[in-house]
Amino acid sequence: CPVNELAVSEKIKDFYIRSGITSLYPPQSKAVFAGLLDNKNVMISIPTASGKTLLAELAMLKSIESGGKALYIVPLRALASEKFRRFSGFSELDVKTGISTGDLDAADEYLGANDIIVATSEKVDSLIRNETRWLQHISVVILDEVHLINSPDRGPTLEIIITKLRRMNPDMQMIALSATIQNSEEVAEWLNASHVVSGWRPTKLYEGVYYDGVYKAKVQKPAFDLKKIAKKPKTVKKSEKEAGKEKPEENTHSGFDSENGLEKEIKQIYIGKVPEAAVSLVADTISGGGQCLVFESSRKNAVGFAKKAASVIFSLLNPAEKETLSKIATEILEGSDTDVAVVLANCVLHGAAFHHAGLSAEQREIVETSFLAGKIKMISSTPTLAAGLNLPARRVIIRSWRRYDSDSGMQPIPVMEYKQMAGRAGRPHLDPYGESVLIAAKEDDVEMLTEKFIEAPPENIESKLGAENMIRTHVLSTIANGFANTREELLEFFKGTFFAHQRGLMSTIALSTIIDKCLDFLIENEMSQEKRKNINGSESSSSSSSSSDLGPQSPFQTADKLSKSYTNLGGRSDAVLAPTTLGTLVSKLYIDPLSATTLLDGILKSKSCGKEPSVIGLLHLVCKAPDMKLLYMKSSDYEWVQEFIADNTEHFISVPKTTNPAEYEWFMGEVKTAVLLYRWISEVSENDISKEFDVGEGDIRNFSETASWMANAASRLCQLCGFKEEVVSLSDLELRLQYGASVDLLSLLKIRGIGRIRARKLYNAGFKSKDRLQKSDYVTVAGLVGPKVAEQIYKEIGMTPDPEALKSQKSRKGRSKS
Ligand code: ADP
Repeated sequence: CPVNELAVSEKIKDFYIRSGITSLYPPQSKAVFAGLLDNKNVMISIPTASGKTLLAELAMLKSIESGGKALYIVPLRALASEKFRRFSGFSELDVKTGISTGDLDAADEYLGANDIIVATSEKVDSLIRNETRWLQHISVVILDEVHLINSPDRGPTLEIIITKLRRMNPDMQMIALSATIQNSEEVAEWLNASHVVSGWRPTKLYEGVYYDGVYKAKVQKPAFDLKKIAKKPKTVKKSEKEAGKEKPEENTHSGFDSENGLEKEIKQIYIGKVPEAAVSLVADTISGGGQCLVFESSRKNAVGFAKKAASVIFSLLNPAEKETLSKIATEILEGSDTDVAVVLANCVLHGAAFHHAGLSAEQREIVETSFLAGKIKMISSTPTLAAGLNLPARRVIIRSWRRYDSDSGMQPIPVMEYKQMAGRAGRPHLDPYGESVLIAAKEDDVEMLTEKFIEAPPENIESKLGAENMIRTHVLSTIANGFANTREELLEFFKGTFFAHQRGLMSTIALSTIIDKCLDFLIENEMSQEKRKNINGSESSSSSSSSSDLGPQSPFQTADKLSKSYTNLGGRSDAVLAPTTLGTLVSKLYIDPLSATTLLDGILKSKSCGKEPSVIGLLHLVCKAPDMKLLYMKSSDYEWVQEFIADNTEHFISVPKTTNPAEYEWFMGEVKTAVLLYRWISEVSENDISKEFDVGEGDIRNFSETASWMANAASRLCQLCGFKEEVVSLSDLELRLQYGASVDLLSLLKIRGIGRIRARKLYNAGFKSKDRLQKSDYVTVAGLVGPKVAEQIYKEIGMTPDPEALKSQKSRKGRSKS
């Protein structure tokens, strides 16, 4: 389908034609025929790099042209930034793009000025809870990576927001984008969408196994399409020749699959029998002008492999490449001086890099952009990289096809995950083909790996909404925003989820049991109340909160209208459910109701003892909230954690009995995490924390960010309860956790542009507060934090920067030197 025949304006067509996109790929044409540009819902399940984003863009631009607004929902924050950068290019078309990544308890109304808003599913959930007004003007929603409904962490939220958005505006167009999954049709049915499925790829993909010096691969037809493809006459195709450095002989040949008569291209590459096959495979790719992605099962292995491959890669680089890499390495070291940063910079200097969630956001960004620009030749990574990020490479090597599972030891990775990794192979328009390589340890594994991964269809995706802890928070928010006002309506709401669609009738019983349980919890903890209508028509409440709290306060008219249109079916359904003020707050704070009760119970308990909780006590309380992820206990931790507990018993608000080993073990994990946070707010360096707890900078940031969010929630809950002292101590703690700083820096941290390091420098130089800074002289401050930051700080505190003074001081210095 040529671009100039699309049903969009000339302006849009010109935009794409100028960027070199003149006709659609076959699966893209299929999506257009399925109604993508006719306001129809479309579920698109096609391989990586086959142009899903372009389809999303066309649907969004078309909708915006007709006066609408687009919401692009992604699973990860890194992906949100990637898409935001890309869509910002639409400014040429007068289309404004915004990104919503801020705090999870804000309505971000200012973003309503944009035509496209990019956000994560969690952020969209929180925007709905905060009743953001512009949500009602959304005309098209893009659900990127919708197969993540299968994820136990993220899936339930994704399902719920889809259900809510559809209720808010049933005419909203939904475009769902997914990797190839077995049951995409089921998702399409749920979304009332046309279904587009294809195995087409812009670049040829060889999938194969390496064993004992040889890589054997073939171009694999997608397993799910096999049934549909008519039998073709057998033909023999010539395959390309491969240039490999260490190969002793070359024997590439072509062939076909005799079993089902499908045409397949087969190739063999002799790499040679070498002790480290993966390093040779990497060298082979780079010497042929390509790049490599290597997938490992753990962070340690990812780092280890990058180190191992570094010197071989270095030997293949030219002087200009080496110089570019040294600049990137310097940039990494300028950003951080931790041991991890030093190792990463050293690998990058050699053309190699590693990538995992422990890296800081800046480090990840440098690695990703340098790889995309072809400067870094190889990334060895944990499987997280396979999910979503657009980082293709000519050859993908899957060194470990097993992953550690705490319940069942080493387990094979899902086929879907293998397909996502393999699908990264082959950069469209840049590589003539892509190759994915599974490494077999023994001869028998070759066939097993071929059957298990290469020829196997990807798994079905399954809803993970059934768990009580997942449903609890969504039951509260559904009531709080007026999507349901009775038990019957709640059940009706949950019947709109993929869980119910997939499980059919069976789900109704399961759901009503879980919903009842969750409601009982919410009523017992005064977050919701149930008013029953008496015979005379007056109402009585089953919660102890004051009746002024009653009534849904939703500005979501559609939801209100919908809820009112339901007929009550008797039983408990004539009782009206309403959030209490506490329930509304908890829903808006975007925390698990169980986190709210844990935090409030802790505060109440410490108040009943009559003493203010210590910082370590509060940190432990924050770690007790189920929203907080905890550090694992390693065998070397038991001794010191137990000692720490013994030395600090009086600080903890509650200590479980050692007679309950499971509970005590959990408690120790909470304490270990609290100690990490304590180090962070005591200004211990990131490097020292990394070494002490065996974590990366990215992990420290994640822990401190979540803890800061919990401290904020706790402080807001205390505010509601009128606990003034606790509000102050918890909001101070929130700021300290956010920046990783001691209490004496609090005043400086409130000034924008000042972080833990700069605040400490200023403080030690005597500038301990805003007042004191306002009396400072510009040259001294610039000397401490650099002229750029000094200028920003001065503007923040209402002072005029004096760059001239700085210049004249410099020239004085220059003269005195000469
Ligand atoms: P996906 O989201 O499916 O992984 P993308 O949308 O990122 O794939 O597309 C991969 C690459 O292919 C991008 O660089 C994109 O610009 C390019 N592309 C997409 N559609 C076309 C097309 N019809 N013609 C040429 N290039 C295209």
